Amino acid sequence: MQSCLNCKKEFKYTQVLSSIVGQFKWKIVSCNYCGRDHKITLFSKFLISTSIIAFPIVMVQYIFPDPPLFAVALLWFAAWVITILAISPYFIKFKE
Ligand SMILES: [Zn+2]
Repeated sequence: MQSCLNCKKEFKYTQVLSSIVGQFKWKIVSCNYCGRDHKITLFSKFLISTSIIAFPIVMVQYIFPDPPLFAVALLWFAAWVITILAISPYFIKFKE
């Protein structure tokens, strides 16, 4: 988990997660201790976006060679998005 770039206090998991999923916008994370604002880096956004988009494309081609039931595919995709979002606080980076 990334720490504050100003005071080195570690961000909370929920704090980082809410910045990612909050209204599905890329919000700013403010440090609870010193109030410094941090933005998610472009690379982290890119990483999450491509992970979310690339997997379903691969999945459809290799895991479900036959056209899957729409509901099944949607369920897989939902589970995948939730997984990515749940682990994303551990690999995304912030800048000031
Ligand atoms: Zn701080």
